[in-house]
Amino acid sequence: MRTVTVVGASLSGLYAARELRAQGFDGRLVIVGDEPHHPYDRPPLSKDFLTGRASEGDLALTDSEESAGLDAEWVLGVRAGGLDARGRAVLLDDGRTVSTDGVVIATGARARRLPGDGLTGVHTLRTLDDARALRAELGRGPRQVVVIGGGFIGAETASSCAALGHRVTVVEVAPLPLVPQLGAEMAAVCATLHRRGGTELVTGTGVRGLRGPVAVTGVELSDGRTLPADLVIVGIGATPNTGWLAGSTLALEDGVRCDDGCVTALPQVVAVGDVARVGGIRAEHWTSATEQPRVAVANLLAGRTVETSRSVPYFWSDQYGARIQFAGRRRDGDSVRITEGALADGTPADDGFLARYERGGRTTAVLSVDRPRPFLRARRELLRGEGRVASVVL
Ligand code: FAD
Repeated sequence: MRTVTVVGASLSGLYAARELRAQGFDGRLVIVGDEPHHPYDRPPLSKDFLTGRASEGDLALTDSEESAGLDAEWVLGVRAGGLDARGRAVLLDDGRTVSTDGVVIATGARARRLPGDGLTGVHTLRTLDDARALRAELGRGPRQVVVIGGGFIGAETASSCAALGHRVTVVEVAPLPLVPQLGAEMAAVCATLHRRGGTELVTGTGVRGLRGPVAVTGVELSDGRTLPADLVIVGIGATPNTGWLAGSTLALEDGVRCDDGCVTALPQVVAVGDVARVGGIRAEHWTSATEQPRVAVANLLAGRTVETSRSVPYFWSDQYGARIQFAGRRRDGDSVRITEGALADGTPADDGFLARYERGGRTTAVLSVDRPRPFLRARRELLRGEGRVASVVL
């Protein structure tokens, strides 16, 4: 391979570029990103960056020394608009074409939006520019904030807004937030964190629409109520960025379909991170975006799948001063057992707790609130059980 093009200049794209060089690729490396920024870290956007504890400089994932070492051509602020049928040409929206021998698709996901969210005062939170706009608005004095969606981004944003002294309400259509990820028992703990942090939680009702002539004034719920709001944050999930691949021959269904080794239908095209549906699963987690590139690049350079990636999903979240960590694959019907620390009336003790999800006498997943060490041990057990990255020569 003489040229490899990485499309998407963020976390998984950067890790793929690092892997290409680390695994000996010494050809032309082109990195295309539609944002004008060099790679930055997204997790702090809803946490320390929003509250002002982290600056833009703290978000940088790379520096000029590393950039020079990668010896890459950075094409930033330019969207890739297409990939030809053979996967040999990346078409850029500015009219240029990059002829290439290999492609790493790392275009991530974008925030889902609500119809009518063009009113001023309505925000989503996915990019640095989103976070800058939201942070500026939160700095203009006390706000009545409504967060639509009680998932991780919604919960973290609500927590940061509450920490800044704003009045915050979270609206969640399900009876509890985070049930799909954590199951009802542990989701109830997260609901308690909201309430303990002074955030009002409105569950079991959807949103009919946003009110306001130009600036948002309220959120109309499907149960008929209207919540007053002068700032609304829409946190209803993310959609994989596959639109630019519409004319390609790749299989697109909730992401780019890949085998267990991140290889698409074309052996010289791999996909990583939030956009990749690897072996049937699309994870939107920082750790997957940093682990998949090693395997994807090995397969890309080999020209076929020689390694598979079977990682144990892991994510963390910081809410109301508590660190939540989760690893594994839980399923509905798993039992949950607190094995360290305690919960009193659904509230974690000051020193947190560790919970194990179990099925048929085996641990399927672990969750901790403020118990990092026992969590690490339990996560390692899971990794040993499942084999984090299996190097299989096919
Ligand atoms: P992205 O980070 O989405 O990057 C994709 C890049 O490709 C973007 O820059 C995008 O603009 C660009 N792009 C898209 N289309 C094109 C195109 N056609 N041409 C060129 N460029 C394109 N995970 C955790 O595990 N724990 C957390 O606490 C956590 N917190 C988070 C908080 C926030 C606010 C957000 C948004 C995410 C959080 N995540 C967290 C998830 C984590 O950040 C993502 O899993 C990770 O960013 C995925 O990296 P990626 O490179 O695959 O995709």
